[in-house]
Amino acid sequence: MKILGIESSCDETAASVVEDGRTVLSNVVASSVEEHKLYGGVVPEIASRRHAECISQVVEQALRDANVTLDNIDGIGVTHAPGLIGALLVGVNFAKGLAYSAKKPLVPTHHLRSHIASNYISNKELKPPFMCLVVSGGHSHIVMVESYTKMKIIGRTRDDAAGEAFDKAARTMGMSYPGGISMDIEAEKGDPFAFKLPRPIVHDAPYDFSFSGLKTAIINTIHNASQKGETLPKADLCASFRWAVVDCLVTNFLKAAKDYNVKTLVIAGGVSANSLLRRRLQEECKNLSYELYMPEKKYCGDNGAMVASQAYYELLDNNIADLDLNAVATLPIDYR
Ligand code: ATP
Ligand code: MG
Ligand code: FE
Repeated sequence: MKILGIESSCDETAASVVEDGRTVLSNVVASSVEEHKLYGGVVPEIASRRHAECISQVVEQALRDANVTLDNIDGIGVTHAPGLIGALLVGVNFAKGLAYSAKKPLVPTHHLRSHIASNYISNKELKPPFMCLVVSGGHSHIVMVESYTKMKIIGRTRDDAAGEAFDKAARTMGMSYPGGISMDIEAEKGDPFAFKLPRPIVHDAPYDFSFSGLKTAIINTIHNASQKGETLPKADLCASFRWAVVDCLVTNFLKAAKDYNVKTLVIAGGVSANSLLRRRLQEECKNLSYELYMPEKKYCGDNGAMVASQAYYELLDNNIADLDLNAVATLPIDYR
């Protein structure tokens, strides 16, 4: 089965054709990130306008690259939640129009489930059940993936998402949006133990995360130094902050895996591209004889291929929407 996947939940307009949830036939991504850089974060109005301007070209290109027409497509998957409402609406309405005119099933697809599905593309042998650490710009979850379409939340962030914490800390150090990647690169040159940072724990919820205190700690360290006229070494700040965030993620994730007796671990979302997170989990999982799966770096960020992959499994599970499908800004991953 060939599925067309459409993604527009944030600042990437993306479309892709994927066969049987696993084989990518095309993958087109247009990003408006350069415009958002001017403002230090995503401006919803600009994101919506750019989606509206380029969505038809992106979808046409995805069909052309895959050497197919809509006639050869078996379903149209679209991110309907969660995300920026004005941005989501562009993709949802475009997908509705296509589904109606081509008489194809319309498959509503949850953005975080799609992040998880990026792993089905990169790891052909991976099948649920497994435990997944979903870490992105807006979310940080530990999820038990019981089947392709049945999930349970084990832990979640109480405040900032991991990606958001990286981006905000990076901004204080003068790095442009989104700072997560630049911080990762800079951190490679620094000493992770140069600055002592807290490891926030959430009482009575051992799998939950809290990153806002950590973010405030690094911001205060920088501000206090600058008030004294000092400039702290950027590489050491980045390395210490990255070490602390990754430490929280790895500790809770491994604790959850142990307590739930799960030996297949998966990571997903934009932050799963983080080199320290990948290295540390590889080491720990090797020592514990756990199987670890990660998406290829090109599928960590938002893309249409992950949507087409998840939509394939949603379609098999009969998750088909009518033309009254609406976009939803917030929706839990276990909504269905
Ligand atoms: P969500 O998926 O929660 O709706 P989003 O779609 O905006 O949010 P993603 O595209 O999944 O988020 O990921 C973007 C985030 O990933 C940004 O916060 C970015 O800084 C972060 N990120 C990307 N690469 C890295 C990296 N190497 N290290 C740390 N963070 C990274
Ligand atoms: Mg983005
Ligand atoms: Fe995302």
